Amino acid sequence: MQKLNVAVLGATGAVGQRFIQLLEDHPWFQVGEVIASERSAGKLYSEAVNWVLDGEPPSRVANLTVKPLDGEFDSLLIFSALPKEAAQTRELELAAAGHIVCTNASSHRMADDVPLLLPEINAEHLALIDVQRHRRGWEGAIIANSNCTVMPVVMALAPLRKYGITQVQSVSMQAISGAGYPGVASLDILDNVIPYIAGEEPKLEAEARKMLGRFDGERILDLDLNISATCTRVPVLDGHLVNISMGLADKPLIETIIEDWRSFAGPDLVPSLPTAPLRPLEYLTQPDRPQPRRDRNAGNGMATSIGRLRPCSIMGYKFAALSHNTIRGAAGCSILNAELLAAKGYLGDFQPLVDALVVQQ
Ligand code: NAP
Repeated sequence: MQKLNVAVLGATGAVGQRFIQLLEDHPWFQVGEVIASERSAGKLYSEAVNWVLDGEPPSRVANLTVKPLDGEFDSLLIFSALPKEAAQTRELELAAAGHIVCTNASSHRMADDVPLLLPEINAEHLALIDVQRHRRGWEGAIIANSNCTVMPVVMALAPLRKYGITQVQSVSMQAISGAGYPGVASLDILDNVIPYIAGEEPKLEAEARKMLGRFDGERILDLDLNISATCTRVPVLDGHLVNISMGLADKPLIETIIEDWRSFAGPDLVPSLPTAPLRPLEYLTQPDRPQPRRDRNAGNGMATSIGRLRPCSIMGYKFAALSHNTIRGAAGCSILNAELLAAKGYLGDFQPLVDALVVQQ
């Protein structure tokens, strides 16, 4: 099968580099265009990027010339890892020009015709694209994925919606790569914890309600969830760990919830998509897990690790959940979203046969 050429906006940043790394051996997509700021445009990718991941940038991408954001792009599918200010107008222009934009920026996440997609938990939200195209009169589309910290929260809560989630309180310990590159100054974060991340808490609360909500054919009906978030930055490279307390209207046994997590799989063809992990949720029985350094790469960085489920005297239950912020929380999720788009026929003539694929793990 001929691979589809894709473009990566913000290709030199923390999330952009993850895109380049994850797409290197992708069975359907290959990077054909890299885009960054004026600082980088015109340079070879290898010269423009300060590669912070293991090894070297893949040689094919290393030799691509970085394009400016205001140029025209050949690729139908565009992955965006732009800061929200740069994404705000340009992503709209690109969708209007017919591109399918899978974005990590927060600019359009809460627009009521933009799916905030996480295939395992809300694949049906994809159909919101038809509403978006009709309303905006364009043939392209914007599909967002969420803030990286909401990821472990919604992944863990999704299988428990059937019990009636009444309230949630979360306290995050977020890795420094979540702040992008160069991110937080070492003099601020080493030997320290910062109990504030600008804008993060309201995003987590609003995005969780939308992602766990229901699509009624025209709009997303948010989950009626009382949620309160505290977000902190800790000196960890990758992986956001969140302590979560929750109330459930029904009172399932601890063992039942663990079984719900262990048996959880995405709907329909989602588990067969190339980037989908075999088990989206892994429950760890050791009393001191999950830990960022040990567990962030579960399922190639796409699985959420959960542990320490126990009674909470205030809300009923409490536990810890961890997701890799630049893989499941950003580039990996965007790629999974694009795979779902391809499988559902949203990428023009490019429609791979998903049943014929072997799940990679
Ligand atoms: P980053 O490391 O600061 O990278 C930003 C990228 O955008 C760089 O490639 C930069 O290019 C480019 N850029 C900046 N201004 C631009 C402009 N005016 N025109 C064109 N390109 C421009 O940020 P990041 O952490 O990768 O985050 C990217 C986006 O993903 C943000 O919206 C962020 O909120 C979101 N996100 C991040 C994470 C995470 O864990 N880091 C998780 C989820 C979502 P130069 O190198 O040329 O400056």
